[in-house]
Amino acid sequence: QSRLLFPTVGLLRVVLDLQTSGALFARIFEYFDLEPAITDSATAKPVDERRVGHVAFDDVSFAYPDGEPDKPTLRGVSFELQPGQFAAFVGPSGAGKTTISYLVPRLYEATAGSVRFAGQDVRDIEHEDLMAHIGIVSQETYLFHSSIGDNLRYAKPDATDAELEQAARAANIHETIASFPDGYDTIVGERGYRLSGGEKQRIAIARVLLKDPPVLVLDEATSALDSISERIVQAALDTAARGRTTISIAHRLSTIRDADVVFVLDHGQIVEQGTHDELLALGGTYATLHEQQSDPVVAARG
Ligand code: ADP
Ligand code: MG
Repeated sequence: QSRLLFPTVGLLRVVLDLQTSGALFARIFEYFDLEPAITDSATAKPVDERRVGHVAFDDVSFAYPDGEPDKPTLRGVSFELQPGQFAAFVGPSGAGKTTISYLVPRLYEATAGSVRFAGQDVRDIEHEDLMAHIGIVSQETYLFHSSIGDNLRYAKPDATDAELEQAARAANIHETIASFPDGYDTIVGERGYRLSGGEKQRIAIARVLLKDPPVLVLDEATSALDSISERIVQAALDTAARGRTTISIAHRLSTIRDADVVFVLDHGQIVEQGTHDELLALGGTYATLHEQQSDPVVAARG
């Protein structure tokens, strides 16, 4: 059995770190064969550790290279997060939420304005170091054709078995892994043992916990799950978000009730911002979304 070799090439590390959606994964692999699209400038610096956890968009506009240039996906988006804050982005499909999650790790660059990480423009940061400070959990989790242990250790190659187990427990996946005949040696990924969406997602969360990054980006991380696994995954995500700056793109508003700040995105612009209660009181877009999602049965029970 060949062992997975942990890639040392910066870009590959970045790519595999994403646990990303199929389309983006394909996109990154596309240029992986060509020129790396994300190159460091001659003056690129490491992340400024003194301000780590600070994330800001300054008047960011963005149009996809292959999109319509006169219809930018993001228009004048500004926000500022302090270390440890939990920020949620909500809004209709196509509003630009996922695009924001791409701009933070500089998978795409702002067309205008500036994305800042720990006080520096992301274009002035060594990309590999930027990625080392960000954990991403998105809708689809990519697992290599290798053991669960290897898939977890990818986030931290020198992790001990005890650390793996601790992360897996915190992500509510240890018991499940332990119940497999081969435990952490179970081969997953393409042609491997088939895991459910919720199981894969909890492995992705365990990876993020092992990585222990100061900034977490969650893109509708529970939207594909049934309500039981959603609750389990949500509990794991709440654990993961503790003590980190978290950008949570939320499908269900119930998952972001306690957010420090909620940004409502519509047609690429932030149209409302505030806490859950403030936005409900405002009676605008958020309140309407909330009303649409309220379960009448739960509402009747109070
Ligand atoms: P959301 O996550 O809020 O549903 P997205 O950020 O995924 O929205 O998409 C915002 C807009 O950008 C949509 O109109 C979408 O069609 C467009 N878009 C997304 N990805 C690409 C891409 N790779 N190329 C061109 N347009 C894109
Ligand atoms: Mg999206």
